[in-house]
Amino acid sequence: MHPFSYTRVSDTREALAAGSRGGRYIAGGTTLVDLMRETVERPEALVDISGLPLREVSATERGGLRIGALVTMSQAAADRKVRTLYPVVSEALELSASAQLRNMATIGGNIMQRTRCTYFRDVTADCNKRDPGSGCAARDGFNRMHAILGTSDSCVATHPSDVAVAFAALEAQVHLLGPDGERTLPFADFLLRPGNTPNREQAIRQGELITAVEIPALPRPLRSGYLKVRDRQSYEFALTSAAVALHISGGVIREAKVAAGGVGTVPWKLPAVEQHLIGERPSESLWAAAAAKAADGARPLQHNRFKPQLLNRTVERQLRIVGENS
Ligand code: SF4
Repeated sequence: MHPFSYTRVSDTREALAAGSRGGRYIAGGTTLVDLMRETVERPEALVDISGLPLREVSATERGGLRIGALVTMSQAAADRKVRTLYPVVSEALELSASAQLRNMATIGGNIMQRTRCTYFRDVTADCNKRDPGSGCAARDGFNRMHAILGTSDSCVATHPSDVAVAFAALEAQVHLLGPDGERTLPFADFLLRPGNTPNREQAIRQGELITAVEIPALPRPLRSGYLKVRDRQSYEFALTSAAVALHISGGVIREAKVAAGGVGTVPWKLPAVEQHLIGERPSESLWAAAAAKAADGARPLQHNRFKPQLLNRTVERQLRIVGENS
């Protein structure tokens, strides 16, 4: 591990000052410390923000929910408001990582986490994300876990978060605070596709802090849930996943929010699936026809040719689970 300085801040102004001087924010540290041990990340200064007052889950005036950036994954998963209003969020959190990690890791850190591509974490391998311009060892390497959507010639790594898939489906917003004040980004604009700059993963500016993730109000009744398909039943990343929320009234689907994980370089919103559902009556054939659009545009790699079909089946199954219980 490379030498670094460590500062613990107690208020936001102090944090922003340290952040704008180049300090890296750290809270739970469950990703950053690992990467520092492996010398993938070499920050010169760490700014510990875990003492900042960003630990609340609160209802918004607009009828949504605001989850503070320092709420831990386990706190958010257990929160009564989250469980009642957005089960898809609590289910995604509970299917993530391990209990120990969920007790440490925060919501802000979760959406800032970096890819689990093994070549990214191996400092002897070529990786455009870690070392821009060096190449991508995964393209011709073992790429079973890699992305089939949103990829570029530069990078094919998946985004690893589960709860980010739920946030993408629900069209959450990310609240940021920086030296120039506050701003809010749609979740879809917060995480960046790799393009020619896979080293740039979030639309966050130097010194900016994530203060909260806000989930907008959605029509009620709303039924939602998260399905994760993986090689083993715990402590494993998704091969495919589906976050689904449906508002059904008078026997007709009035609102549909659907996104997929494990397949995209960012959590993959599925507007074609959503549009196919809206205005229709739930049925077995509807779930299948809508889900058949999930993998549109997929570009499988040598070892993950199974993913488009698995994605379609994952989405179909989760539409049925959510839709039949609505
Ligand atoms: Fe690096 Fe992305 Fe290629 Fe993985 S897929 S080796 S993260 S450039």
